[in-house]
Amino acid sequence: MLKETFAERLKTAMDLQGKKQVDLIRIASQQGVKLGKSHISQYVNGKTLPRGDILHFLAETLQVEEEWLMGKENQTNQTRGERKMREFKKSSKLDNVLYDVRGPVVDEAERMEDAGMQILKLNIGNPAPFGFKTPDEVIYDMRRQLTDCEGYSSAKGLFSARKAIMQYAQLKKIPNLSIEDIYTGNGVSELINLSMSALLDNGDEILIPSPDYPLWTACATLAGGKAVHYICDEQSEWYPDMEDIKKKITDRTKAIVIINPNNPTGALYPREVLQQIVDIAREHQLIIFSDEIYDRLVMDGEEHVSIASLAPDLFCVTFSGLSKSHMIAGFRIGWMILSGNKRIAKDYIEGLKMLSNMRLCSNVPAQSIVQTALGGHQSVNDYILPGGRIYEQREFIYKQLLDIPGISCVKPKAAFYIFPKMDIKRFHILDDEKFALDLLQEKKILIVHGGGFNWHQPDHFRIVYLPRIEVLKEASEKMKDFFSYYHQ
Ligand code: PLP
Repeated sequence: MLKETFAERLKTAMDLQGKKQVDLIRIASQQGVKLGKSHISQYVNGKTLPRGDILHFLAETLQVEEEWLMGKENQTNQTRGERKMREFKKSSKLDNVLYDVRGPVVDEAERMEDAGMQILKLNIGNPAPFGFKTPDEVIYDMRRQLTDCEGYSSAKGLFSARKAIMQYAQLKKIPNLSIEDIYTGNGVSELINLSMSALLDNGDEILIPSPDYPLWTACATLAGGKAVHYICDEQSEWYPDMEDIKKKITDRTKAIVIINPNNPTGALYPREVLQQIVDIAREHQLIIFSDEIYDRLVMDGEEHVSIASLAPDLFCVTFSGLSKSHMIAGFRIGWMILSGNKRIAKDYIEGLKMLSNMRLCSNVPAQSIVQTALGGHQSVNDYILPGGRIYEQREFIYKQLLDIPGISCVKPKAAFYIFPKMDIKRFHILDDEKFALDLLQEKKILIVHGGGFNWHQPDHFRIVYLPRIEVLKEASEKMKDFFSYYHQ
């Protein structure tokens, strides 16, 4: 009976695929599968059943399920001898890639919003929705130039934009650079991806901070590299732990990434700390990648130092852009600057050029306002001084968080993030993503858990303090209540 059913189903599948016995014999021989004329005719005539490997071959070739061929009644139409639906899976290159800033907790928040709930969003560093306006002059100048921006620019970007970036870099004392060393990108994001893809071979290691801005780890991993996380130490103002960095360097370490000012901690690295990183990079011949997108959002009269200015003999790549300082994250404009000892990176620079050419150019209307944005009055300065929104919001959220029993935090000096610590014994927190979901579901507050920043203890979360004080007040009061009873 089974032989007959098998024969019937085999014939149905062959008909549906338009394949005859000779076709199966030919395909089998091409694939090195032993399938003779007499075998196939015995199967078709219900005289015998195939061995497992032949069954597998027939099912694959005829795009049906093995179980169905063997007589099992199937639940789905797809396998009733009809053509099996091909499924499309994501590339395995993405298996270890994490980007939780827009991850599952955010999906749940969207679901809740769709159901009509209002969510307090403290999760994403996007200034515009919080009422931070782009300077008028930037909009005016973009409008005026729009009709001149219809074509592609050169791959690295418009001369005027790169000249302005070069002058900015000169003010930051970044050494040995010409206009050819400046590449514009669709945000720093695109350039992080490009710089990692051009550098890393499978298994190459790169030192990345923990906590980090997770795009660095994601892009290094996607490029085939191994992101090795060095600890930033909360006890020391979240500065990189030099001993940990040294311990983690191997023969395969090619580079070190620093994020300064830092997302998610809000730390700003002083010159002495940067000097120690340069010394380590010098000793081990590492490239330095420095993400400085928040360099114009520094408070308390502190000065931002570009690490490249301390390393004229090393090869450095410095990243910045206008998303944060000019509140135009949506326009997508960032840049990277190659500096220092470019001789040792000649071949890598060829790779950067290739990838930059392949994407033709970055968004040209956004490039057209770089000169305007970087010159003249910097309206961002009004936000970061006492009385300014970012400064006052930082003061407020810091004070509010310290007032919550079981919560501690280092006061941020730059950017617009704070990374509080939870007493996980007190709250019995074992899973920080679950904590983020619980906070969302119970208090309708959306934050990002520490794990989203490659922080490996379940004891931190990040708050974006861009919302106005009234909103921060409501959020922090709700959090205080939440932490008064929360226990995982
Ligand atoms: N680097 C850091 C440290 C960031 O926090 C962000 C955005 O949040 C980016 C890069 C991406 O910036 P862009 O908008 O230029 O792609």
